[in-house]
This record gives sequence, structure tokens and C-alpha cells, in this order.
Amino acid sequence: MKTVNDFNFKNKKALIRVDFNVPLDDTLKVTDNTRILAAKATIIKVLEDGGSCVLMSHLGRPKNREEQFSLKHIITTIEQVVGVEVKFVSDCIGEETLNAVENLNSGELLLLENLRYHNEEKAGDVEFAKQLSKLGDIYINDAFGTAHRAHASTSVIAQYFPKNKCFGLLLASEIKNLNKVLTNSEKPVTAIIGGAKVSSKITIIENILDKVDHLIIGGGMAFTFIKAQGGNIGNSLVEEDQQELALTILKKAKEKNVEVHLPLDVIAAADFSNEAETKIEDIFHISEGWMGLDVGPQTNVLFSKVILDSKTILWNGPVGVFELSTFAKGTIYLGNAIAEATKNGTFSLVGGGDSVAAVKKFELSKKVSYVSTGGGAMLEMLEGKVLPGIEAITK
Ligand code: AMP
Repeated sequence: MKTVNDFNFKNKKALIRVDFNVPLDDTLKVTDNTRILAAKATIIKVLEDGGSCVLMSHLGRPKNREEQFSLKHIITTIEQVVGVEVKFVSDCIGEETLNAVENLNSGELLLLENLRYHNEEKAGDVEFAKQLSKLGDIYINDAFGTAHRAHASTSVIAQYFPKNKCFGLLLASEIKNLNKVLTNSEKPVTAIIGGAKVSSKITIIENILDKVDHLIIGGGMAFTFIKAQGGNIGNSLVEEDQQELALTILKKAKEKNVEVHLPLDVIAAADFSNEAETKIEDIFHISEGWMGLDVGPQTNVLFSKVILDSKTILWNGPVGVFELSTFAKGTIYLGNAIAEATKNGTFSLVGGGDSVAAVKKFELSKKVSYVSTGGGAMLEMLEGKVLPGIEAITK
């Protein structure tokens, strides 16, 4: 796996695909600079070698060059994070852009305008990719967030740098850490899969059955498994059409010697609100009209025991409606158990939109081994897919 550490960038122009798709508020100020911070190490490596950086990214989903999607809004934040003045060019291809790159000196940073102002980016257009490729000597992909897309700047472009292409430090560390879970992982390996729906996690579950010793299933998706086994789940979330599949998964898990742990009890609520009346119920016997919105105390004990006995942990998806404080306790309990296991030497990786949000909300980010930055990309890796952005560098 070639990374920026295999190159010396002295007097070279590094063309870096970063993921600066950051959230902006109504006044177009950056509200979370995590993604910019994540790319800092790669940028600094190039600059310290004596090279220059041409940064390219997308921002949002523009249709017609709407002003709100201009990357110029993030210039100040990049300058604050990296500590270097940012030059900006109002397109990502064309003469003006070529000139700006031409005039770039060692130690300087140039930010290109939003790649998605050109439809050719998402279409993976070869001619567009070729034009982009003229903007640097060495191509670096450090955008894990878009590594699962075969776009012009994330994958198609790599063919123009047969020898001079590599991973940035963020992407390299994402791959390394995910591989710690997916290959050669220290046993016992436990995957915790939560969240709302079975249907959105099914491919992941099927793929990881070959890699784990324990599978903890929590959150809304657990009820489909319980109902499929004859349980009364009241008004809890269910996907009627996924029940067969749920039974198949349980059967396959058994064949592969994977221990599946479903919740034993739930915090049942009379309605979906923070102020709802609640009671603890056996998950197989939830009262008519009530719904399970969090795991109960017996489940907390069961799940933490499995977690504390594990040497490798993957966590994707909350085990309850953690956005509402009344139903957040199970997810907090689980997060704390993972933190404790990590303290005892277990490798823990958290990834996928909502579990990352939960880890941040409950201040557990520093207490787990690794928090993945890529939502969709990380899920596709867990599904066993080869990501175009990764393949383009390695092949
Ligand atoms: P996902 O995006 O599939 O990981 O699902 C995350 C969402 O699942 C969060 O918004 C949670 O509120 C929701 N969720 C977790 N547990 C439950 C539950 N028992 N009932 C309904 N929704 C849930």
C-alpha cells in the first residue's frame, strides 16, 4: 500500500483529493471542521517536504453552481486548521486553474472550486479526469468519505499517474484500521450491529458472519428477529418482509459457530417521545400498543459481558433511540463497556453515521481505538466490496 510516506514531495505539486464536504450554517460558516483536521497530516507532509498542494473536493450536491456550495466559504477554516494561507481559484479545470497551478510555489496551498460544479465529476468522465490530472505531479487520494464512488477525481483520474499515485495518511489509516477488524483480527471478535432497519445492514451482517465470533444485534432491527421467532413486539419497529431473512441469518450464524446475542428486555414506551410513559418488558412479550425504544437492564449486562470478553470490537449502529435522552441509556451503557474493554487492551472500531454521532455525543471518541470518518465508504468495506477509490490506487 503506497502512501505519501513513500514519496518525497520536494519541488513537486501534489494533487490531493480531500473530503472537505463539511457542514455549513445559514451564514455559510463551517460548523464542524473534523474532515479538514483529518486531512491536515497529509497536507503538512507535502509542505514539509518542500512541495505544494492543490486541493480538490466536492461540497454538497450543487445542481447549477449555486453560491452556497462554493468551497470559498471554507478557506478561513482551512487556514486556521493548517496554519498556511490558502489560495483559491474559482474553477477546478480550465486556463485560469492551470495558470494558478503553474504559479504555485513550494510551501503553498491552492484550493480548487467545487468539483461537482461540473456534472462530469460524478459521471466519472474520462476527459474531465484527464484535465484534472494536469494539475499536479503526484496524485494523492485522502478522501475516505468518497472512496466508494467511481467519480472522476476519486478513481478515474488515477490512470494518469501510473507510478505517481498514493494514499493520503487518513485513507491509509482508515484501511489499516478496518483491516484490523476484517482480516487477521485478534479473537474473540464481536460485531455490534444496531440501528433502525435490518434491510440496510443485511449485506454487512452476511459478510461479517465469516469474520466474527459474536454478533450483537440491537436497536430497531432486533424486533424483526424477535417477531420472526414468534415474539410479541407490540408496536415496535418491524420489517415484515425481512422476517424470513432474519431467520436465515440466525441459521447461517449457527452453522458458522457465530453466537448471536439479541436483547433480552427493552424499555417499552407508550409513544415515541422523550416524555412517554415507560416500563421494562421482556422483548418476547411487549404489551399491545407499546414499543421497545431502548434495550433494558438485563440486556445491558449481557451485552457488556460479551464486549468485555472480546479482543476485537466493531460497532455500527445505536441500540436504542439515543437521540431522545429517555432511550439513550442502552447506547451509553454499551459505549462505556466498549471504552472499558479498550482500556483493557481490546481493539475497538466505531463507524457509520449514527454510531459516530452517538460516540461524539457521549464523549467516547477518545476512549475507543478508532472512529472511522467515512459513512457509506466504511459500510461498503464492511459489506466486503472493493472500493473504486482504493482500487484505483492499488492496481
Ligand atoms: P441506522 O441509520 O440504520 O444506523 O439507524 C439509526 C437510527 O435507529 C437512529 O436514529 C435510532 O434512533 C434508530 N433506532 C435505534 N433503536 C430503535 C428502536 N428501538 N426503535 C426505533 N428506532 C430505533
